[in-house]
Amino acid sequence: MELFNLSGKVAIVTGGNGGIGLGMACGLAKAGADIAIIGRNSEKNKSALQTISKLGRRCISITADVTDGNAVADMTSQVAAELGSISILINNAGTNVRKRPEELSEEDWHLVMDTNLTSAFLCAKACYPHMKKSGGGKVLNNGSMLSLFGSPWGSVYGSSKGGIMQLTRSLATAWAHDNIQVNCFLPGWIDTELTRTARVQIPELNDKVLDRTPAGRWGTIEDMAGVAVFLASPASDFITGTALPVDGGFSIAI
Ligand code: NDP
Repeated sequence: MELFNLSGKVAIVTGGNGGIGLGMACGLAKAGADIAIIGRNSEKNKSALQTISKLGRRCISITADVTDGNAVADMTSQVAAELGSISILINNAGTNVRKRPEELSEEDWHLVMDTNLTSAFLCAKACYPHMKKSGGGKVLNNGSMLSLFGSPWGSVYGSSKGGIMQLTRSLATAWAHDNIQVNCFLPGWIDTELTRTARVQIPELNDKVLDRTPAGRWGTIEDMAGVAVFLASPASDFITGTALPVDGGFSIAI
């Protein structure tokens, strides 16, 4: 068995058209997987598709909103029909509304919960029959440091990302007998569109991140490729339900 070989595998990466999702999709493609990226913005999908296609694997993009159960069902059927199966799912699509709890609206709450948590449930449920049929699979859920820590600006985001850890554990126990491993990874501060807006909203953020992160730098989207390959490959076949920080030491420093 080649521990990190993903040849013959088909991976869905939600939010794979930019940021962390694109970094992970490129990692999986380099390890041999065929890729389906999902996002709402078809221009971003097109541009990411060009990047991933250069890596020599089959690659499709689907314009879909992963908070919509019908769109998720259609999307998974399309991936299975076009690429032949579904072996890996990365639930990465996410958003944030940075407001103190007393300023957060009900609409803000549902937007973040639906995008970050409900979508992961919907996609995992839709992929399950395909994984079961092919004898196993890998589900990777994107958490956060706010899966672990609290923040005045993160009541809904942290709730959704804490939920991701518990969803991961529940799915892992439910599907272990189907040879489906379900894990989550917890990124530290990674330089993406999402955190670029945070740096504008919170001017002192850059210095705080550099100061607090033992590695002394922001993560890059390329830093996220290794964890994707590891948790999607036979190298992690006896690991399930865990939450793996990818954070330059952020979560172990005081
Ligand atoms: P980006 O804003 O670059 O990526 C977000 C992605 O999610 C985009 O591809 C976006 O595509 C997609 N997306 C958002 N909503 C939907 C939706 N309803 N349906 C389909 N796709 C959707 O940010 P990041 O790469 O930083 O974030 C990716 C994930 O990483 C998120 O879950 C985030 O919470 C998590 N994370 C990020 C950290 C960081 O430091 N950057 C730290 C910890 C966690 P489109 O707009 O085309 O729909």
